[in-house]
Amino acid sequence: MRTWSLLLSVLLALVLLLPAHPQAVVAAMEPTLSIVPDKTVTLTFDDGPDPRYTPAILDMLKKRHLQATFFIVGRNAIEHPDLVRRIERDGHTIANHTLTHPHLEQLTLTQVNAELQGGDAALTSVLGPTFPIPHFFRPPRGNVSQAILETTENMHKQLILWNVCVENHSTTTPDQVEARVMDLIRERHGGILLAHDGELDRSLTVQSLPRILDDLQREGYHIVTLQEYLDRQTTKEAR
Ligand SMILES: [Zn+2]
Repeated sequence: MRTWSLLLSVLLALVLLLPAHPQAVVAAMEPTLSIVPDKTVTLTFDDGPDPRYTPAILDMLKKRHLQATFFIVGRNAIEHPDLVRRIERDGHTIANHTLTHPHLEQLTLTQVNAELQGGDAALTSVLGPTFPIPHFFRPPRGNVSQAILETTENMHKQLILWNVCVENHSTTTPDQVEARVMDLIRERHGGILLAHDGELDRSLTVQSLPRILDDLQREGYHIVTLQEYLDRQTTKEAR
């Protein structure tokens, strides 16, 4: 099941990264890595906000003048509205990560729709009616289903997965996390980096991130917003 969902995620990433029809996915498998814009990284955070980790992450981003995308869980937004407002005030992109972070791929179309609408509604209730409805959506655990794809399309959202995840069961110290993440990023010449700022114990993430951000900046990676990352990708494909 895990392998299958991983494979599905990879296939989906291809569908999403290329303006292609699903039939073209297999043909497009080979140059997967080359579609990451050269030495460009975008930072994304899932599962927050959480007062244990989000403020520290916001501080480290601010210190380095970096902007990220926060895929926020609606119920956490309602619980910690001040943190959501700070994320917005700091200029980061706010995105939808459902209302309750369920196993979305197991839900019906109506239930999936309610989770996405609920996520948007939670953010609007905290940020006010003038706040634009989030364009980006990431399904919990990166799992997808027909109902998720259909709902995302109906709501005119863009489904975003990732290339490199900071958290991994094989790494248990900041040194190990840094080494693994940087190896993967160098291999891919950049990518969408996923880290988590809520739900579980994320202290290792908070300890490791400054090292990763320092490495990226020292090695000349462009750390850009998600929209800019996607724009660069499109430009590269158009060449
Ligand atoms: Zn999540």
